[in-house]
Amino acid sequence: MTSIAIIGAGLSGLVLAGQLQNSARVTVFEKSRGVGGRMSTRYQDDYSFDHGAQYFTAKTPEFRAFLEPHIATGLVQEWHPRLVTIEHGTMPKELDDTKQFYTAVPRMTSLCKKLSAELDIRQQHEIGAIDRLETAWQLTTTNGKNAGAFDWIVSTAPALQSRRILPDNFRHRRELASTKMAACFTLMLGYARTSAIAWDAAKVVGSPIGWIAVNSTKPGRPIGHSLVVQTTNQWAEAHLESPKDEVTTGLLKDLTELTHQDFSGATYMSLHRWRYASTPSPTGASYLVDVDSQLAACGDWCIKGRVEAAFTSANSLANVLRQELT
Ligand SMILES: Cc1cc2nc3c(=O)[nH]c(=O)nc-3n(C[C@H](O)[C@H](O)[C@H](O)COP(=O)(O)OP(=O)(O)OC[C@H]3O[C@@H](n4cnc5c(N)ncnc54)[C@H](O)[C@@H]3O)c2cc1C
Repeated sequence: MTSIAIIGAGLSGLVLAGQLQNSARVTVFEKSRGVGGRMSTRYQDDYSFDHGAQYFTAKTPEFRAFLEPHIATGLVQEWHPRLVTIEHGTMPKELDDTKQFYTAVPRMTSLCKKLSAELDIRQQHEIGAIDRLETAWQLTTTNGKNAGAFDWIVSTAPALQSRRILPDNFRHRRELASTKMAACFTLMLGYARTSAIAWDAAKVVGSPIGWIAVNSTKPGRPIGHSLVVQTTNQWAEAHLESPKDEVTTGLLKDLTELTHQDFSGATYMSLHRWRYASTPSPTGASYLVDVDSQLAACGDWCIKGRVEAAFTSANSLANVLRQELT
């Protein structure tokens, strides 16, 4: 049976692995301790924070069909936030967004956890090198461990990371190089008492902050009042190397001025820096495949920095690879 190594256990790696597992011997390598990549959740005591993806849409029939069984079991549910736009010096304005917002329950990671259940996943395996042997590709981790030899390699790591690890003869290196991803900071705040804000999520205009969500209003979350504050990509790119304390203090000040609420006294506070959060300049192809070398890459960055795009990219590549394997 053909062997395939998939690098990355975010949604695209897990969807791809799930769709190929009856056609090949599939192994997934993930550098972190858990699965989910940017669909991730931080939780402690009564608080939980989806600090990457906030919600997802399901516009295509393929993604809707994929979600259907998970919606049926309640693992994926709709979130109906009271949504507003806010900017400095004005009152929040109600926003009538007709999109359906979906989230995994009880955490954003829960969907990826479910998808990973039947797969061969090697966590805490950061792939550092892919070398050609006579008849296969040899994988080596960043700490020098031999991770095995495989017929096919697919990277689902963000574009720049895929470019670093895929061999020089991968014919789509130019597309990887031209794909641009952008950063984001997420500030997570937990409070013993509910704040007085009268909305569940806000799109922010004209501020370093781009989005605020009361995470505890999503279905199935623990009761602790949990706020997720995300910066715009432009602001994060400009402040990428700023000390974390400085970023936290600046965001808290801006949050207070925007909402006219007192956000001191958090019983949980943490800042996460995403180096590759969204994709202002995607590849423009649904996936990248080099059949001669048996190398490929996919991920949200091929199409758009969105959960649904990660699915579409992996699903399209799976269709092509299944044909190659037969
Ligand atoms: C702050 C933020 C907010 C967002 N908000 C939304 C939103 O509201 N709605 C929406 O639809 N989308 C949102 N997104 C985007 C969404 O999270 C992504 O589109 C989606 O999760 C991408 O999935 P993926 O599998 O393609 O990539 P990832 O989730 O990035 O998966 C790649 C995986 O590869 C692993 N990896 C990388 N290098 C290696 C290596 N060398 N060896 C082994 N493993 C490796 C990583 O650890 C990671 O787990 C947001 C993202 C961020 C960061």
